[in-house]
Amino acid sequence: MYVPETLMSPLKELASEYARVRRDPAFSRELNAYLRDFVGRPTPLYHARRLSSELGAKVYLKREDLCHTGAHKINNSLGQVLLALRMGKKRIIAETGAGQHGVATATVAAMFGLECVIYMGAVDMERQALNVSRMRRLGATVTAVTAGQQTLKEAISEAMRDWVTNVRTTHYILGSALGSHPYPMMVRDFQSVIGREARRQILKAEGRLPTHILACVGGGSNAIGIFYPFLRDGGVRLIGIEAGGEGIRPGRHAARFAGGKVGILQGTRTYVLQDASGNIQLTHSVSAGLDYAAIGPEHALLRDLKRAEYHHVGDAEAMEGVNALCRLEGILPALETAHAVAYALNMRRSFKRRDLIIINVSGRGDKDVQQMEAWDRRHANRSKDRS
Ligand SMILES: *Cc1c(COP(=O)(O)O)cnc(C)c1O
Repeated sequence: MYVPETLMSPLKELASEYARVRRDPAFSRELNAYLRDFVGRPTPLYHARRLSSELGAKVYLKREDLCHTGAHKINNSLGQVLLALRMGKKRIIAETGAGQHGVATATVAAMFGLECVIYMGAVDMERQALNVSRMRRLGATVTAVTAGQQTLKEAISEAMRDWVTNVRTTHYILGSALGSHPYPMMVRDFQSVIGREARRQILKAEGRLPTHILACVGGGSNAIGIFYPFLRDGGVRLIGIEAGGEGIRPGRHAARFAGGKVGILQGTRTYVLQDASGNIQLTHSVSAGLDYAAIGPEHALLRDLKRAEYHHVGDAEAMEGVNALCRLEGILPALETAHAVAYALNMRRSFKRRDLIIINVSGRGDKDVQQMEAWDRRHANRSKDRS
């Protein structure tokens, strides 16, 4: 818990309240009922036939893109809003990068009639305008953060400041497996529903465990959610994909394991992109949801234990991943998700016929279509220049 003194007591209160509900069967019953009837769980585990023949192995997609609001984020927002209600908090705040966590949180706040404030970097508000409009329609106040790089890191700082000031009435729903304890554990637990379902579904469909599980890693919540229930299954390779952006040069990517070293950022000691003096570096990715200088601390542990492995793919490969999943399977993935698809395409030659692969489709790509078009326009011009 690497936080200022003022945050210690709210975090301790949260940790002890969470420890209580974690053991409370009434809490799980209530959460599971909303996950089923409001979120639409269980999400399907879909056998992707054309992608399978492209990769030369059997591939299944875990369809988190089919969750209400279009990504896995709502699994966590729902769990935390129920916890906030138990704690008697009537005001909800959250940070958001790509806007998916903001939309999920605004949604559950509306469902329970709670006041909701979302902090978002001004640059992200511009590149994810659709999600800003959705949050406002749902009744949330979206506050633009104009400090620093005006993206996710600054939005988290602003949400933390609000929380310290208003902690008596307010719960802060952090959106990834990041920040100080108990958040990484709590977010992992709420997202582990993905892996529990996938484990049951693959055993039913195939009668055996997968050989590979692939997921993109921003803060790391969709990845830890699908990895966690398979941690003890030594034969299952757990593969996380970070954003390689425009290449592993300072400021041009968000691959913490490729370019970072151990440091502290926003409550967490983990791998952080920083310069020689420990200043946090700028990051870049075509996908706003992977664009953050630190990685969830449990991924740092799994990597050091060699239980999970981490790789990165760049912006251009991610765009190819989008197009591949669209054209082979009729599924438009989020730019974040496309990093995992792209890495599977890169691994193609190393797969064997008997390999059984699950790719976590963390979200749908509707929010990204303008970014994708802008990419196509830029690159159409470049290929014209070359010819
Ligand atoms: C937010 C987001 C991510 C990245 O966050 P994680 O916490 O690493 O899962 C990935 N995919 C989608 C669709 C997202 O909205």
